[in-house]
Amino acid sequence: RSKASGRNQFQFFTADMNAHALERLALENDLHRAVERGEFRLMFQPQFEGSGSIIGAEALLRWQHPQRGLVTPAEFIPVAEETGLIVPIGTWVLERACQQVRAWRDAGLKKITVSVNISALQFSQKNLLELIRRLLAVSNIEPGTLELELTESVLMHDHVATSGLMSELKEMGVRMAIDDFGTGYSSLSYLRSFPISKLKIDQSFVRDLSDGGDAGAITGAIIGLAKNLNMRVIAEGVETAQQASFLQAQCCDEFQGHFFSQPVSPEKFAELLRAE
Ligand code: C2E
Ligand code: MG
Ligand code: MG
Ligand code: MG
Repeated sequence: RSKASGRNQFQFFTADMNAHALERLALENDLHRAVERGEFRLMFQPQFEGSGSIIGAEALLRWQHPQRGLVTPAEFIPVAEETGLIVPIGTWVLERACQQVRAWRDAGLKKITVSVNISALQFSQKNLLELIRRLLAVSNIEPGTLELELTESVLMHDHVATSGLMSELKEMGVRMAIDDFGTGYSSLSYLRSFPISKLKIDQSFVRDLSDGGDAGAITGAIIGLAKNLNMRVIAEGVETAQQASFLQAQCCDEFQGHFFSQPVSPEKFAELLRAE
């Protein structure tokens, strides 16, 4: 390769990187204003018991950008985490989720659990406990209707601080689930030392159930682990009847995925509850 073309390549690469950096900066700026501009909303994906009735909902954040259109969490959550913006955004999510629970209850709908995704940075936020206590009080909802979804990385962070906060949350009555379980590096002995009430089997293991092989061994092992630790277990990303019946045969407690329902608006969710 000649010197000249090497230089050209270098220039091209730099221009490309600049474009990338500019784009990223623009996204960051927009994200800064998104909460105050009211561009976020929550969708709710129903969670089902083996009997087929809805027992919960996972709150999933959506960003309706005025120019970009709908931006997926995969695009903006990592940026929000890197910039620290996930803390104010996460506060909005928690508040909105609690308000929604109150609204559904006021509408006479049955009691369900609402799960909220919490990033590691939020979990190390100083006032998280106070924030949750206040939001529950203001919305006047039972602490047991709120479930926090944490990833294994949260557990691996700072054992003393994390288990202290989790114990206080548990004492308050708030439940905690481990999201994407099986994809992180948490050791099993570690798992036992936290007040966790539910494991969420990562959707990659559920997806693998379709190609036969040994994927059923993994879902079976996670379900067995949950039972032995007295935790509930939910499979996420269930897309087919075959996956659902396989998991049901393995005694999985709860199910979530497109086979049962996509994430829906609060209004649509209320309709689903009414239709039961
Ligand atoms: P997650 O918490 O593991 O959420 C499950 C994701 O799987 C959601 O994607 C959901 O729409 C999708 N899903 C549900 N059923 C199916 C299915 O049958 N098949 C497939 N292929 N996918 C399914 P979504 O809403 O795009 O969210 C992606 C991730 O973004 C979430 O993964 C979570 O880690 C994060 N996230 C979403 N909302 C929030 C939030 O409010 N706060 C934080 N910190 N993270 C959030
Ligand atoms: Mg989740
Ligand atoms: Mg998950
Ligand atoms: Mg996830």
